[in-house]
Amino acid sequence: MTCIFCAIVAGEAQATILYRDERVTAFRDIHPVAATHILIVPNRHIDSLNTLEDGDADLLAHMLFTARALAVQEGVAGSGYRLVFNTGADGGQTIYHLHLHLIAGKFTRFTLG
Ligand code: 5GP
Ligand code: ZN
Repeated sequence: MTCIFCAIVAGEAQATILYRDERVTAFRDIHPVAATHILIVPNRHIDSLNTLEDGDADLLAHMLFTARALAVQEGVAGSGYRLVFNTGADGGQTIYHLHLHLIAGKFTRFTLG
């Protein structure tokens, strides 16, 4: 298993998991850039938004709705939050397993990755 997020999904690597179902897993970022920094990932390995397929539209929507539910759970839905997909090297992507950043609260730094 070479992909760290696949290992987290499989329970083979440690993470603070906040939510999981048959399609997605959400866990806290190990290097948070703000008070709330959560990653929502598909359980199935997908490299990035670039390799997402037409049939994955429901999965993508589910990732967004999961992020919204977690924003409510974290108490930041009203105050506001940011959702980010870094894609490719110039997009700041460092882990090539699709993930949605949910970021809220006071930023401790402004760059991701
Ligand atoms: P990217 O730069 O690819 O958009 O974001 C990857 C994110 O994954 C970074 O914010 C980084 O801190 C986080 N990350 C990297 N390795 C691990 C890990 O092993 N566990 C967790 N929880 N987060 C990780
Ligand atoms: Zn993976």
